[in-house]
Amino acid sequence: MIKVGVLGLQGAVREHVLSVEACGAEAVVIKRKGQLDEVDGLILPGGESTTMRRLIDKYDFMDSLKEFAQSGKPMFGTCAGLILLANNIIGYDEPHIGVMDVHVERNSFGRQRESFEADLDIAGVAEDFAAVFIRAPHIVEAGENVEILAKHNGRIVAAREGRFLGCSFHPELTDDHRLTGYFVEMIKESKQLIV
Ligand code: GLN
Repeated sequence: MIKVGVLGLQGAVREHVLSVEACGAEAVVIKRKGQLDEVDGLILPGGESTTMRRLIDKYDFMDSLKEFAQSGKPMFGTCAGLILLANNIIGYDEPHIGVMDVHVERNSFGRQRESFEADLDIAGVAEDFAAVFIRAPHIVEAGENVEILAKHNGRIVAAREGRFLGCSFHPELTDDHRLTGYFVEMIKESKQLIV
């Protein structure tokens, strides 16, 4: 069975676990870096990217996360997780993991719209995906190898670059598991390539 890790340092962890299980895969909450070896793909959940970064450093996870990214195993960053994957964060000197060729802006939908729901057409996933945005970032600029999967009001809110998938919203907060399912399929494909 496909094993999907969910980085369990902070944020919406349990909801991702349930979503992965609903897709017929096994979910593993990753609390120690050694557990990364056990999983075929990794979800970086939403939460607060600055807090998550602090905990990544505290528990000495950064090198292992970068190694994981280089191993060929897929990674899916949702909301704060997308910020962790991006190679450029507007207004900051350094990225975090920095493996996906996108520039992101944090909290970019304005204070008055701290959270909202929007119906999205996500290429290859769903034409009617109810997406929950919470203090969401968006992708301001995407490199040429990045496939734009969804936009909201002209802003990029979901994208894929090879084995890296990122979205601005929280796909785990509804019972629509199609985007998680898409990620599980990415993992299955990558296993065929790696094995
Ligand atoms: N605003 C958060 C950040 O900048 C992300 C919010 C979220 O993950 N829901 O990290």
